[in-house]
Amino acid sequence: MRAAVLTEFNQDWQFQTLPDPRPAPGQVLIRIHASGMCGTDLHAHHGHLGGKTPMVLGHEPAGEIVELGPGVLDLKVGDRVGVFWNQKGDGRCAVCQAGRPDRCPNAQSWMHLGGANSELMLAWATGCALIPDGLSYELAAPLFCGGYTVMSGLRNGDPKPGERVAVLGMGGLGHMALQLSKAVGLVTFAVTGQADKKAELMGFGADEVLLAGDDPGKALQAAGGADVILSTTNSAKQIAAAFAGLRPQGRFVNMGVPDGPLVINPMHLMWGQRQLRGSSQDERSDLFETLTLAAAGKVKPKIELYPLARANEVRQRLEAGKVRYRAVLQHAV
Ligand SMILES: [Zn+2]
Ligand SMILES: [Zn+2]
Repeated sequence: MRAAVLTEFNQDWQFQTLPDPRPAPGQVLIRIHASGMCGTDLHAHHGHLGGKTPMVLGHEPAGEIVELGPGVLDLKVGDRVGVFWNQKGDGRCAVCQAGRPDRCPNAQSWMHLGGANSELMLAWATGCALIPDGLSYELAAPLFCGGYTVMSGLRNGDPKPGERVAVLGMGGLGHMALQLSKAVGLVTFAVTGQADKKAELMGFGADEVLLAGDDPGKALQAAGGADVILSTTNSAKQIAAAFAGLRPQGRFVNMGVPDGPLVINPMHLMWGQRQLRGSSQDERSDLFETLTLAAAGKVKPKIELYPLARANEVRQRLEAGKVRYRAVLQHAV
């Protein structure tokens, strides 16, 4: 199989021909049609997530099962699937025994089995989800990290009917968070520093687009405040400022990987009993809901398509902030 291989951290990926992998018991082999590129891929590329080189990145896979390992009962050859981050726990620790293998400290991910920037990818059957009919591989791919993550964030923000949601950071994750929040019927503000995105964000369904400048908290307060802030920004400074835009009892849900420690004004926490919450890919039903809403056309990731052969260029574009929403690598099949 051809694959884009990270042979050394921080170096361009090498296109290599690797032996075709064979699925072990409990695993499946997937022919990849599309793989989304996520901000976390940059952290992996720079070695911030650890792991050992050589490695194949890509954790927004969408493809077709071509082989089943022994003991796989529920999936079939020909199934259209995607794979999420934590595919399988060790099954034996307290966390797994309590029913949350996705939170297992020994969970297996693409970092153990190989990622999606490759013709073929191994995955644990337990890490695969079916792609609904009518949803293309290209549009499904970004849902397996970005979409899933923000749907869990929305749920973990615990919005009540009639509450106001603000999405902070309007990139790959943010534009999906905005659409998901609207799809479930919530008043939703888009908070961005990029004035040129305003028309598009209104097109995604935003009730209002707040141009935040360097103080999103002030912009939010001026707009009446938010009960839930879904934060996808990587800027610790923006997060600190935005926290002041929460209404009393408000919940700030952090889903990004900020560029420094979060400094929150303790008075804002205490008075009004505001909360800072962290969220990542959570209940499996969040992914199912995201896929279902996308298949129904209620959520549509805005994607830029590139051939896998341009993976290095796409990574550089992402790092330079030139990917507007989500880049997806298309595989020649
Ligand atoms: Zn990701
Ligand atoms: Zn475990």
